Amino acid sequence: MSDALDTPLFDPPAYRLTHEQADLIARARKLGAERFAPRAAQYDRDASFPTENYRDLRDAGLLGFCIPRQHGGLGAGYLTYSLAAAEIARSCGATALTWNMHVCSTLWTGALADDLQMDATTRAEHERRRALHFRRIVADGAIYAQPFSEGNASAVGAIPFGTVARPVDGGWSVTGRKVFASLSGHADYYGVLCTERANDETASRRNTLYVAIPAAAQGVAVVGDWDPLGMRGTVSRTLEFSDVFVERDAALMPRGMYFQAASRWPHMFLTLSPTYLGLAQAAYDFTARYLRGGRRSSVVKQLAVAEMRIKLEQAKTLWFQAVSEAHVDPTPEQRLRAYAAQYTTMETANDLARLAIRTCGGHSMLKSLPLERIYRDSRCGSLMAPWTAEVCLERIGHGSLYNEGETDE
Ligand SMILES: Cc1cc2nc3c(=O)[nH]c(=O)nc-3n(C[C@H](O)[C@H](O)[C@H](O)COP(=O)(O)OP(=O)(O)OC[C@H]3O[C@@H](n4cnc5c(N)ncnc54)[C@H](O)[C@@H]3O)c2cc1C
Repeated sequence: MSDALDTPLFDPPAYRLTHEQADLIARARKLGAERFAPRAAQYDRDASFPTENYRDLRDAGLLGFCIPRQHGGLGAGYLTYSLAAAEIARSCGATALTWNMHVCSTLWTGALADDLQMDATTRAEHERRRALHFRRIVADGAIYAQPFSEGNASAVGAIPFGTVARPVDGGWSVTGRKVFASLSGHADYYGVLCTERANDETASRRNTLYVAIPAAAQGVAVVGDWDPLGMRGTVSRTLEFSDVFVERDAALMPRGMYFQAASRWPHMFLTLSPTYLGLAQAAYDFTARYLRGGRRSSVVKQLAVAEMRIKLEQAKTLWFQAVSEAHVDPTPEQRLRAYAAQYTTMETANDLARLAIRTCGGHSMLKSLPLERIYRDSRCGSLMAPWTAEVCLERIGHGSLYNEGETDE
């Protein structure tokens, strides 16, 4: 029997992947298993950013994973990205989660923006701006972060972002504060969501602006410490922006497009889930390998592994279906399935890590083994905005009982 990490999380023929998809995903898996896995414990212990891993991602071309080929990237689509991110997470959750923030800045401005409605002038302007942004990544190895959260209801889409972009000559002046900004102090650009608002304008979610703020810009500060339970290598400290001037070409999406994307392309928010699916697989892999090393004869252990495998297969099947149907204007059923997949993945990852510790026993909790890190990292999944566990439950419940726009009035 081969080592579990030698086999893909999703067997390409069984899941009908193309050779090209399988090859791109295999590159990510190889990098994870050979380079990231041996370094993961140290980043976790020090709560330090995986800088060496990012050097490897850059050298392997994986910073441009979802950048279209005509712009020098690898041209991977949503599904291929999701499977590759899950493979990386099997080796290092923090690297996968931060890679997600970076890759989304290219996926959203790339393939996803292609599906949105824009007039010809706006489309041409977006094309010119995203070319600048892609070039920075492909040619200069620039790293992007995605700091959206502000510690209020804006990240879940309930209120406008409190970070404000005031129009000024040649661009905007941005002021605000973002919490849990993964890659803070290590990204070259912060892809910030803010509310574009002239002095007399009321804040509206329709005016959400997605803009790349250079980390070196005047008025940008990384503050606070970082010593969390899990996902320690993400280095998600607080970012403060004080009257930061940002030029017009820094817009990652044209005016109004983020709002359109959030409404019409909901799977854009499912991209945190691959990390946690990879962690679920990692918890299972660990258990199978650990028990095979001399502790497998007990029927009790065999039943526990069976329970884990069933939960894993359930999560994988639902998740694969949901990421396969990511596209513009999904049906109400597909939307609800995406929430269900997010909820299931986030909850299953931590549940499997819990079962893995119970099944393997005391030794599996030692810091010298990866399971206790997987347990801590996986706990963060259901907290991730905008699709936290509670938000998913609320939307699934409401969407199952009411049609769109329907009320009891
Ligand atoms: C390791 C880590 C890395 C992160 N990286 C990033 C990042 O790179 N970028 C980024 O933008 N954010 C990031 N986050 C932040 C994350 O997405 C959440 O925004 C954050 O965890 C919310 O914390 P809070 O204390 O403000 O909780 P709250 O927002 O107060 O949430 C507490 C609970 O209330 C529920 N809740 C909140 N609002 C609603 C609502 N309107 N409806 C229903 N339920 C609701 C939530 O489900 C949640 O369980 C990261 C978080 C962690 C832990």
